[in-house]
Amino acid sequence: MIKIGKKFLFQLRENLKKEKGELEEELKRFAKKDEKLEGNWETRFPYFGEESGGGILEKAADEVEKYSALLPIEYSLELKLREINLALKRIKKGKYGICEKCRKPIEAERLRAFPEAKICSKCLKPR
Ligand SMILES: [Zn+2]
Repeated sequence: MIKIGKKFLFQLRENLKKEKGELEEELKRFAKKDEKLEGNWETRFPYFGEESGGGILEKAADEVEKYSALLPIEYSLELKLREINLALKRIKKGKYGICEKCRKPIEAERLRAFPEAKICSKCLKPR
């Protein structure tokens, strides 16, 4: 069974929630939440504006570049957010803190550093 104290678990849950909020804020700056697919975010394509004239193509190229630069950032933030949501779900179900590989409790120290951890540090390290 899980050997995590209630107080510790509560603290971890608070940390996860806080991190979740921060990640969502970060994502909101350039991406839009996908209402149809939970946990999915779409990077907004930059808005080119109404202006016409010579500079528009050049400007568009800049925006495309910006957009491409944002995609991997969005991807990694989204991935992390997904892990956090899964960790919160595991807490809810009372299945938090169990290694997915060896089914043993994950070390408290590791959970403190990575509350979204799914595997223990033994399984994390290659033999
Ligand atoms: Zn393990």
